[in-house]
Amino acid sequence: MQITRTEAATTTASPEWVTGTVHVTSIAAAEGPARLRVDDVRFEPGSRTHWHRHPVGQFLHITDGTGLVQRRGGPVEVVHAGDRVVIAPGEWHWHGAGPTTSMTHLAVLTAAEDGTEAERGEPVTDACYPAEPVV
Ligand code: MN
Repeated sequence: MQITRTEAATTTASPEWVTGTVHVTSIAAAEGPARLRVDDVRFEPGSRTHWHRHPVGQFLHITDGTGLVQRRGGPVEVVHAGDRVVIAPGEWHWHGAGPTTSMTHLAVLTAAEDGTEAERGEPVTDACYPAEPVV
């Protein structure tokens, strides 16, 4: 058993994966045989992931603020603190803040057997991202 009380290190997500400023704090990063990963992710207003997919899917639990999630072929959906989102294995999607609101979620996923957690696609362009505030 390991108990960690020191403040967890927070890093800024790479622009290869996100648009804007996204803070990531690792909550759990299991070593084999488990392949679980849990991150606390805070999106500053206007920031969002690029399109991506997870080979084994992902769970999002929104803990603060108001943000957006879109699945390929679907509408941009508004999410609030308390909402949970299930992303199916292989489903292309993005998640992020609203244009004027921050959003924080826990992101829970399992890596594939080869260690792959996500496959990256194109950035979510301003043309596809809402310009008006969402509620
Ligand atoms: Mn995702």
